[in-house]
Amino acid sequence: MEDFDVLVIGGGIAGISIGYELSQAGQRVLLLEAEATLAYHTTGRSAATWLSTYGNGPVRALTAASHDYFTAPPADLHPDGAPLGKPLSLIHIAPDGLGDVLKTFHDEVVGLTPDARIITAEEAHAMVPVLRTAWVEAALLEPYALEVDVAGLHQGYKRGLKAHGGEIRTLAKVDGAERTADGRWKVSASVGQEFTTTYVVNAAGAWADQVAELFGAKPVGIEPRLRSVFMVSAPDVDPHLPMVMSIDAENPFYFKADAGQYLCSPADTTPMKPHDAKHDELEIARAIEAINEATTIGIKGIRTPWAGLRTFAPDGSPVIGPDPVAENFYWYAGQGGFGIQMGPAAARLGAALLLGHDVPEDIAATGFDVASVLPARLA
Ligand SMILES: Cc1cc2nc3c(=O)[nH]c(=O)nc-3n(C[C@H](O)[C@H](O)[C@H](O)COP(=O)(O)OP(=O)(O)OC[C@H]3O[C@@H](n4cnc5c(N)ncnc54)[C@H](O)[C@@H]3O)c2cc1C
Repeated sequence: MEDFDVLVIGGGIAGISIGYELSQAGQRVLLLEAEATLAYHTTGRSAATWLSTYGNGPVRALTAASHDYFTAPPADLHPDGAPLGKPLSLIHIAPDGLGDVLKTFHDEVVGLTPDARIITAEEAHAMVPVLRTAWVEAALLEPYALEVDVAGLHQGYKRGLKAHGGEIRTLAKVDGAERTADGRWKVSASVGQEFTTTYVVNAAGAWADQVAELFGAKPVGIEPRLRSVFMVSAPDVDPHLPMVMSIDAENPFYFKADAGQYLCSPADTTPMKPHDAKHDELEIARAIEAINEATTIGIKGIRTPWAGLRTFAPDGSPVIGPDPVAENFYWYAGQGGFGIQMGPAAARLGAALLLGHDVPEDIAATGFDVASVLPARLA
């Protein structure tokens, strides 16, 4: 039976990044992924953005602490030296009646995003000429967001994990676990594979609660929620167009320029059981109507729809750290819609907690409170 220090379950951005951090700290790491390829589920289906005004307080803190990784990635993981984030700006738009909500939102985010500012409908229209000025009561500009190279990010961590002796097995679905006589874990995976390990990291995304039960840990109430995306072709889409996101929770949507087309989303949040997600046609139809009301894009048909599951704990914060009951079982789940943008800092935090280190200084400097992500808060 093969023996490791840490067994990581899941090969999305969460598993690969924390696996890397632990391997470079000297741990013998094995990563098991149920699918034939890594990043097959949510990680391979994202909108690929870093938005500092997105998510709740703990998410925004981890996102801020991840910024420099995207603009100046470490040379050993990314030898070509190219940044993993390209400049993008974001405009949150509020329809009639929601201007005050936007102002409250601005007060909440301005601490970590000091450049965020309220702009008029006319200013928003000047930046996004397809916006109908009459639709917009107020807007909030985040000028320095990023468009992220998700595949490059994932590849870099994979390269680093292997360079530090970490191993990766695909088609290896973890399906059982028991304690050994000396208090370690014996873990079984597809087709009769068995491993022993000291620590287990649960980075199983939408399946995190199911995986926890295999280890005798109590589910924390992880909820996978469907998010659909579709592409729209249009002539002369400006590649530098700001991303536009409606703050109307009753009728949400967003769109941005992407490779000569518009990438659009209904920003849907429908709870689902973990599965290989398919897009929601009714939500897409609603978004087409909403975008056509707010803009002059004039969507008639769509291309390449897809969907993924964004997975949330009940309070919307990630779940990072030791299980309160199952010894040496660590959570690294509940990444929500932010697992890419907060990935680099969250992985350093997750590794620090497993290794018994302090919260990394740059993360603490954002005002981040570690209690807000510990699994014990949900017990
Ligand atoms: C449409 C959409 C747009 C998004 N846009 C953004 C964005 O712009 N910016 C951003 O930061 N985030 C975005 N997100 C969210 C982001 O993609 C996720 O937070 C992130 O990918 C989650 O990563 P993960 O590794 O936790 O999950 P996953 O990528 O789903 O990985 C979990 C893995 O665990 C594996 N697994 C499960 N059970 C087992 C088992 N028993 N044994 C072995 N393996 C197992 C699964 O097969 C899976 O590969 C978006 C998500 C969606 C769907």
